[in-house]
Amino acid sequence: MTDKKLKILFVSAEVSPFAKTGGLADVAGSLPRALSNSGNDVRVVMPRYKSIKSTMHYVTDFSISMDNTKETCIVRDTEIEYKNGEEIKGLPVYFIDSYRYFDRDGIYCHPDDGDRFIFFCKAVLEMLLKINFQPDVIHCNDWHTGPICMLLEEYYRKQSFYTNISTVYTIHNLEYQGNFSPGIVRLFNLGYDIFNPDKTEFYGQFSFMKAGIVYSDIINTVSEMYAKEIQTPQYGEKLEGLLSKRAHDLFGIVNGISYEQFDPEKDQWIVKNYNTATYSDKKENKQAIQKEMSLPLEDVPVIGLISRLSGQKGLNLIIEQIDNIMKHDVQFILLGTGDEYYENEFKSIENRYPDKVAFYAGFNATLAQRIYAGVDMFLMPSRFEPCGLGQIISLRYGTIPVVRATGGLADTVIDYDYDRVNGNGFSFKEFSSEEMLKTLERALELYNEDQEAWNKLVVKTLQLDCSWNKPAHKYMDLYYLAIGKRRPVK
Ligand code: ADP
Repeated sequence: MTDKKLKILFVSAEVSPFAKTGGLADVAGSLPRALSNSGNDVRVVMPRYKSIKSTMHYVTDFSISMDNTKETCIVRDTEIEYKNGEEIKGLPVYFIDSYRYFDRDGIYCHPDDGDRFIFFCKAVLEMLLKINFQPDVIHCNDWHTGPICMLLEEYYRKQSFYTNISTVYTIHNLEYQGNFSPGIVRLFNLGYDIFNPDKTEFYGQFSFMKAGIVYSDIINTVSEMYAKEIQTPQYGEKLEGLLSKRAHDLFGIVNGISYEQFDPEKDQWIVKNYNTATYSDKKENKQAIQKEMSLPLEDVPVIGLISRLSGQKGLNLIIEQIDNIMKHDVQFILLGTGDEYYENEFKSIENRYPDKVAFYAGFNATLAQRIYAGVDMFLMPSRFEPCGLGQIISLRYGTIPVVRATGGLADTVIDYDYDRVNGNGFSFKEFSSEEMLKTLERALELYNEDQEAWNKLVVKTLQLDCSWNKPAHKYMDLYYLAIGKRRPVK
């Protein structure tokens, strides 16, 4: 379209390396760098949680009206240093600091999360004027940032500073919608006109997610397949009607991953670095992870799983089939945290199969990298999956994904048995534990019966481009589209 450089504000509730619970943080930590590498002025903004200990500087402060009280906001900033070739660059990151809303333990799941993120959204927009940064596009991400699109439209756009700012709203997971009781609407200081079914009212509640979908110029999700799926009742979380209505403005772009953070050739957290020429060194990482997880050093296929433990991830299929999986000569390494139910189930499986299963309950980013590098295959039987990064990071480390073909998993994993040329993993369509087992058994069969073909598959995955290069260009196209809705693009 055009190669005009843009000013972009990227807004996210989590940004790696400062705060992470899942894939959103990975994207927020890496896509802005890719966009900035092509010469755009990209800045990131997030809440300053208590757990963030990085050095930062005071930028400005102001107060925000929340109904009839005023709350102080302090803006601080820092830079994420990163390499662009040999050049060291710095990506500006702003933090919205509030003693009342963010100076406490934990990122989410506080009873006043609605209040916290209304404050955040207002503060982000106020900050722009105070620091005199007038972005071409505000890129909002997930429910926490949806009201920014609404506040712009219903209030800020009347001021000339904000008139031409366009919005792109990315849905990383439609399941988390930020629905709160109607009383919360008063905190916007916009009156109750915004609370009707054409705007933000959703089954009697105020919906942050709906605000983002209704008011943004362009909407996208993190894979092409999920963009289609969410227009159906099965995946639409009751928003399929609205999303279908906006189908012309709804796109899908599969995430990339940071090639700085995830690089088998340079990863500082793994025992032995490797590349396509030295892929057989991956074995040393396998032995190291077996040792670290107290499993016997046996030359058997090792399956890995790294996941939030939630219903979305299809973990019940594994629980149902674990005895059949364990009939095979395999080991299984699991890393995850979340619902207590799954943690207890996995602990009990580990107790039943101490020589074959190792479960680490918790969040551990460096252990995750050693698992991606050390295991042979990676299991992701998700019920739904907007994009999924686990399978993409696995491919980057030459670890073969075994997945349910839904959302981004369908877009990124091609079944080897059905396409020997492009195949990079194994997948099944129907959400059933029998299908999962059969598919895992196909992967095990290739590993056990044809090591040469397996090794070729490993090399092929190591050669794939999972970087942000291509997706970042697609995001630029979306930004131009969004800008075009407000003013002519030169
Ligand atoms: P989601 O965003 O739904 O949680 P994704 O697959 O998109 O799922 O992204 C998950 C990200 O979080 C990946 O980078 C994965 O490695 C990481 N991750 C998930 N659980 C853990 C954990 N317990 N410890 C370390 N990293 C984890």
